[in-house]
Amino acid sequence: MLIGCPKEIKNHEYRVGLTPASVRELTSRGHQVLVQTQAGAAIGLSDEQYIAAGAQIAADAASIFAKAEMIVKVKEPQPQECAMLREGQILYTYLHLAPDPEQTAALVKSGAICIAYETVTGPGGGLPLLAPMSEVAGRMSIQAGAAHLEKSKGGMGVLLGGVPGVAPAHVVVIGAGVVGSHALQMVVGLGARVTVLDKNVDRLRQLDLVFGNRICTQYSNVQSVEEAVLAADLVIGGVLIPGAAAPKLVTRSMVSRMKTGAVVVDVAIDQGGCFETSHATTHADPTFVVDGVVHYCVANMPGAVARTSTFALNNATIGHAVALADKGWKQALIDNPHLCAGLNVAQGHLTYEAVARDLGYEY
Ligand code: NAD
Repeated sequence: MLIGCPKEIKNHEYRVGLTPASVRELTSRGHQVLVQTQAGAAIGLSDEQYIAAGAQIAADAASIFAKAEMIVKVKEPQPQECAMLREGQILYTYLHLAPDPEQTAALVKSGAICIAYETVTGPGGGLPLLAPMSEVAGRMSIQAGAAHLEKSKGGMGVLLGGVPGVAPAHVVVIGAGVVGSHALQMVVGLGARVTVLDKNVDRLRQLDLVFGNRICTQYSNVQSVEEAVLAADLVIGGVLIPGAAAPKLVTRSMVSRMKTGAVVVDVAIDQGGCFETSHATTHADPTFVVDGVVHYCVANMPGAVARTSTFALNNATIGHAVALADKGWKQALIDNPHLCAGLNVAQGHLTYEAVARDLGYEY
């Protein structure tokens, strides 16, 4: 198969869909790989490394979209990329369609086969192609939150761990999945006072076993979310309902009653966000303030540590990329129900139930 890897064009996105090592996995099996020139240059992956791995270098994205049978990317296709997709072409990348009706309509119109990393499932449960980026974003959320609690960034001027004689900050983590548990690891290490909320009591049990009395676990409902966020200095939003828009757990009224200078990091913003006051921001301008509360809502947080993220993502995606290339999309999906769960759009139809329900498509 001829596989194409264009340079990412979303604002401040430096990750790349295929590393030279991933290219070599494909070329060593007889596939051809076209990589756009400079696709990995920003993270130290040169055209020479790709050539050494067996890739051919393309001058621009247009020639890749025109020739490749499968496009491997990182972020959802931007409008000019959607316009270049062809009928029957495989698109293997993050899509996050639920909060994005324009992209959804463009992909349906393209006739392409669109497999979304974030809905591919794993034999042990969970979402293994989302997990590495959630690990990165969860760990980063505490760095971002700590930085924005500083006065110069608009925060109330509080050090997460406090100092002897001064109480630490109160950090609330909503959602105890991959993002939440990696945020917890960081924040417990920094010595903050931590409350974590989830609807899944089994998750809370597991975290209670790991962290003991260094964290406080709470079943998530309207009452507990309200009490926790009103007492918080920093709130991390890491909830997920797979394939669907994030539930707005923290209402505008709750935000208006939070401490002045408190910070919220809405990691779930790529699914629409779990704060009613959130809207997506970029690394270039990551925050805005609502009712005195600093909102950090960057939709591609792992992009800031693009080199680490690229290798972590490729570790998770390359196995299925090889299967798609070896077998073609139909056979690869028939053989593996977990990869099949990633199919969101095929030949003009929306094929993922939760997205279809959210966006009013026939399923
Ligand atoms: P996950 O499935 O591992 O965890 C989500 C958790 O949310 C689960 O434990 C679930 O029980 C919990 N949850 C669901 N409804 C809840 C509720 N009402 N109250 C409390 N908890 C609830 O998912 P994850 O991998 O941790 O991802 C979380 C979110 O972060 C997703 O939206 C994901 O797309 C997003 N994400 C964003 C970035 C970014 O750059 N902004 C990067 C990676 C992941």
